[in-house]
Amino acid sequence: MAKYKRILLKLSGESLMGDQQYGIDQIRLNDYAEQIAALVKSGVEVGIVIGGGNIFRGLSGAAKGFDRVKGDQMGMLATVINSLALNSALINGGVRSRVMTAIRMEPVGEYYSKEKAVDALAKGEVVIISGGTGNPYFTTDTASALRGIEIEANVMLKGTRVDGIYSADPEKDASATKFESITFDEIYARNLRIMDLTATTLCKENNLPILVFNMDQKGNLQRVMNGEPIGTIVHN
Ligand code: UDP
Repeated sequence: MAKYKRILLKLSGESLMGDQQYGIDQIRLNDYAEQIAALVKSGVEVGIVIGGGNIFRGLSGAAKGFDRVKGDQMGMLATVINSLALNSALINGGVRSRVMTAIRMEPVGEYYSKEKAVDALAKGEVVIISGGTGNPYFTTDTASALRGIEIEANVMLKGTRVDGIYSADPEKDASATKFESITFDEIYARNLRIMDLTATTLCKENNLPILVFNMDQKGNLQRVMNGEPIGTIVHN
């Protein structure tokens, strides 16, 4: 029996790069699709939000002279590209999946609504909610907090390249220890930046726990669903 019935899985854009410097690595993409397919087969309802940093980031665009709002719109479009890629990999693997967009752009994807997303999830379809929040100055972490709350997910799973939240940067500080669980208040008190504050606060205020774990280690997603103590859970 899976630990969670409905999840919102956040994947970062960078992790889609795999060993590449830019864009989408097919091997990584297929690896993610396989891990997700296994969950769907076991009856878990899966909503997904993907970042866009492997293609474009509004802030780095602004540093190069783009208008920030235009840069953020480019970033949001980047998340749509990633979402289409994952959708295609899932469908190739025999998983029913659809892309919704926060900004109207049919026929690329259907315009997001909570009702349509929840209906599709209940039918066993993976729903990839793209385009961030649809607004500049936000991140896809905030988008995944928002969508996770909207679709009434039991947990937001933040798949990263690290295996959880540490008291300090383990690459710089040998005494850094990993938390198995931590409260939102402690995240603020210790100034731990696992996500931006907007995303963290949205989760705290709406009581959506976040589980940070290493998604790049094959099988970890299933281990999380089995309730194995991997990663760090953030809760109220
Ligand atoms: N973005 C935005 N509004 C949102 C979500 C994302 O403007 O609601 C833009 C922003 O420019 C960001 C880019 O999309 O830099 C890519 O998203 P993010 O950086 O969150 O992706 P990640 O770092 O996880 O790859």
